[in-house]
Amino acid sequence: MRRQIVLPLLVALPLAAAAADPHSFAESDRFRVEHIALDLRADFEAHRLEGSAELTVLQLDPYAQELILDSRDLEIESIHLIEPGGVAKVLAFTLGERDPVLGNKLTIQSAKCCNPTGRMQIRIAYRTSPEASALQWLEPAQTSGPHPYLYSQGQAIHARSWIPTQDTPAVRATYSARVVTPPGLVAVMSAARREPQDAGAGEYFFEMRQPIPAYLIALAIGDLEFRSLGERVGVWTEPSQLDAAAQEFVDLPRMLEAGERIAGPYRWDRYDILIMPRAFAYGGMENPRLSFISPSIVAGDRSLVSTIVHEMAHSWSGNLVTNATWNDFWLNEGTTTYLERRLMQALHGERRARMEDAIAFEGLVQAVEDASAAGMPEDSALQLDLAGRDPNDGISDVAYEKGRWLLGFLESRFGRPAFDAFLREYFDAHAFGSMTTAGFRDWLLARLGRPGAPAISAAEIDAWLYGSGLPATMPEVPQGVFDEVDRLAKDWREGRLATAKLPVSGWVPQEWVRFLAQQSADLPDGKLAELRSCFRLGATGNAEIALSWLRLVVRTGYEPAYPDLEKFLLSTGRYRLVETLYRDLARSGSGLALGRQIYARARPGYHATIRSAVERLLWPEPERGDAAPAAAELMQLLNDFLAGASRNDVAVHERFWADDLIYTRSAGVRVGKAEILANARSDPGAADAAPTAYAAEDVRIQQYGDTAVVAFRLVGTTGSGDTAVVTNYLNTGTFVKRNGEWRAVAWQSTRAQ
Ligand SMILES: [Zn+2]
Repeated sequence: MRRQIVLPLLVALPLAAAAADPHSFAESDRFRVEHIALDLRADFEAHRLEGSAELTVLQLDPYAQELILDSRDLEIESIHLIEPGGVAKVLAFTLGERDPVLGNKLTIQSAKCCNPTGRMQIRIAYRTSPEASALQWLEPAQTSGPHPYLYSQGQAIHARSWIPTQDTPAVRATYSARVVTPPGLVAVMSAARREPQDAGAGEYFFEMRQPIPAYLIALAIGDLEFRSLGERVGVWTEPSQLDAAAQEFVDLPRMLEAGERIAGPYRWDRYDILIMPRAFAYGGMENPRLSFISPSIVAGDRSLVSTIVHEMAHSWSGNLVTNATWNDFWLNEGTTTYLERRLMQALHGERRARMEDAIAFEGLVQAVEDASAAGMPEDSALQLDLAGRDPNDGISDVAYEKGRWLLGFLESRFGRPAFDAFLREYFDAHAFGSMTTAGFRDWLLARLGRPGAPAISAAEIDAWLYGSGLPATMPEVPQGVFDEVDRLAKDWREGRLATAKLPVSGWVPQEWVRFLAQQSADLPDGKLAELRSCFRLGATGNAEIALSWLRLVVRTGYEPAYPDLEKFLLSTGRYRLVETLYRDLARSGSGLALGRQIYARARPGYHATIRSAVERLLWPEPERGDAAPAAAELMQLLNDFLAGASRNDVAVHERFWADDLIYTRSAGVRVGKAEILANARSDPGAADAAPTAYAAEDVRIQQYGDTAVVAFRLVGTTGSGDTAVVTNYLNTGTFVKRNGEWRAVAWQSTRAQ
């Protein structure tokens, strides 16, 4: 019965609206959110957004009684149905138990349409949690000026942590917003700015007329200024960064025109970019009309613009035609990566595009191997099954690069002009809609049935979409583009070419990256020192070159450059850069302790997603203990303490020990906190004595409510090099959480024999 009523309505919906999204509670075949009117105030003290979202909801199923929305950690104050005359009627609601992946299911009772258009207005008053997964609140120290900063990141399923709505990419809505900021700060959104913008009162208005999925609603607040780079293009950033950013991205108007030549008209009116503070966790995020871009892209020589090209290409693939679920993520990223390489070729030449393909191909091969090694070979298919997992787990090079090469394969069979026409038709036919992998397959097969179409079988396409690994029809990725650099690297390593004679002045960053990656772990310190001083390799400058250099530093254990490593990890919060270095550190025997030490200092500047990823690397699962939700917090406490203990820092002792501590030394002697503090005060670390560096190894944590036991091996290293003296202790600490703070109440330290 319902099917007969619903069916005529469904026919009018975008192709994928009925596809089940395993990452949303929403039942978008019963109700559909069409517009979201936000009214939010940013509280930088409490790290909360507070206000309301008024949803315009179309009822599709006349028998549906409950409107189900996605939310995560939201504090819902009230929900009202706004009747046509403006009367607000209270609606009952329930907020479900928190699912670790999906968040809280918000069920609104008796939401039943009351007007002839089939639409209703639902107003939800709420505030976000300080822990909202979409929001990162930055302290002034994490920005370029004296002001704090806030930004949102909706992809993949974080929008629900700041907006209660149907958080599935299969549902698109327009939105409007009023945003109130502290005086002096400026708000920007992935939307048109609407007058009046009252900067003095910190009141800003926005309107997004093109329907978008919830994950593309984006907000940033900070000390921001704008500079126009052309009629429909400009850059926002903190004032001190504006000149450099405007210089770097002067080619933006040309890029947009190149995009239109391949993919068709740009349908979002303006294309602006927001250069983020250095704590921004991503390379870029394709928020429509306003891409959020990492400052690590501002290299000073326009050499890293491919990230901008990538985010801009999402204006067609991803933003205009969107993956219907996160299982179809390759449709967003593979198509975008294909367009990115085409644009790089058009803007920067064939050779540059080939270099990027060659580097990316190695990443793809690695991602396929990683999926197999993890016992999940199916993760190297384009069509994923991420049900029950965080969709961010599906983000690997497979979606980007295997997807890119599927389009490369199609191009090779169609021929470029015919394939360009195919792409244009695809974007036109599905503009402002969603697409599943199966929908793409059907559409492609229909086009292959046309007269004059190339001979490509369904089996060949299915091997790409559903098969793991690389298919038999994988095109040959052009090799040889780095042959010259490889030869130079070998000659230099083997002493046939002096460091000063390396012809680096003509190198693009990809060639530097290749040269440094070719060097092995046994490269002598003398050669490393020459590289470092000749080319001023360090923590600053081009971020990709710095990353490759620091990876070599970790690989070779080249201690003189460790301060640069620390500086780099403290000065960027970009996920890929940070995660890569900690992964290298965790894999190298001697690097693990260093990684933990640096992380203890750098942690406050990192986004929550980076913290959990890095902690998984530095403290693998068996050490963390399944039943210890406070494991990360306790590790942080312990690391801060050990870093301070080597300097006999009284403040860290004060913070670490409980007043009623009983500390049992190796010889069985017991002391209290007062004696430990007196001891630290009387011995502030003599300048002539070699300090002892402490690191915790083999950490095990068990927690029972507000009590936890931490057992670990304490490694003390005095001096360095061949004369270093290493001592091992087995330590057990019992921690109790009082007034929200963990402190050690009992301690046992035994010298290991
Ligand atoms: Zn992308």
